Amino acid sequence: MNQKNDLQEKVAIVTGGSRGIGTAVVSELASRGAKVFFTYNRSDEEAAEVEKASGAVKVKCSQTDGEQIASAVDSIVASEGKIDILVNNAGITSDQFIMMMPQEEWTKVLDTNINGAFRWAKAVCRPMMTARQGTIINISSVSGLLGIAGQTNYAASKGALLSFSRALAAELGPKGIRVNAVVPGFIETDMTARMPRQIKHQNLDRILLHRFGKPSEVARAVAFLASEDSSYIIGQTIVVDGGLTGTVA
Ligand code: NDP
Repeated sequence: MNQKNDLQEKVAIVTGGSRGIGTAVVSELASRGAKVFFTYNRSDEEAAEVEKASGAVKVKCSQTDGEQIASAVDSIVASEGKIDILVNNAGITSDQFIMMMPQEEWTKVLDTNINGAFRWAKAVCRPMMTARQGTIINISSVSGLLGIAGQTNYAASKGALLSFSRALAAELGPKGIRVNAVVPGFIETDMTARMPRQIKHQNLDRILLHRFGKPSEVARAVAFLASEDSSYIIGQTIVVDGGLTGTVA
């Protein structure tokens, strides 16, 4: 059990908190004392369960709707007076070889993953700048580092999130706001449950720890970047992949 209470008084928004890594981040931040709001798109039942289990507050709000996002941020600032932490976690895949990929599947993935992160960062940066403090954590993917066939849309969105993070860190760092990124490897969630068994086995062979990660293992890295434990870390990327990248095994 987590004994730390270092996020007390902090107000956090986690996008895509109804399932998977997002749910683990919601639980981790809430267990460390933060007041957490999380978004979701369609999973009403799952979101209600996360709300009940964690004490966090669910907000139905699509990544693709800038007006909904701006009004969610306005209402959180109105009720809480500030936003300290934004975790840009919501994301989707729609894997296809490029020859077969309809334009709308390209656009949908980019709009959800990278344009959505832009919309949230834009909405929270004003209250964070007024407070002259805050942290933004962008959840990228090993697909943004490696070339994975069938993921041109997802890889483009996740690679873009990394360069977006660094540029945003350069803009907001002087205002006291730290922006960093987390790159998960293969993590046990609904997203990887859909992977064909053969692809899973191939990837397991390339992971030094020879297992997929748990959402909680990503959540702890996110909480580190959200907390004062990382007070001098900015514009950086933490890779949580069990040794999939970074070595020649
Ligand atoms: P899941 O598919 O398990 O959950 C995705 C979450 O995003 C859900 O809460 C979902 O809401 C939300 N979401 C999806 N579309 C929208 C939208 N348009 N508006 C608002 N919320 C939305 O994903 P994971 O937990 O596996 O992944 C979380 C993040 O981590 C993603 O950005 C993913 O790219 C990244 N990642 C995951 C890896 C993995 O192995 N699992 C590896 C590397 C990166 P709803 O439930 O309503 O659909």
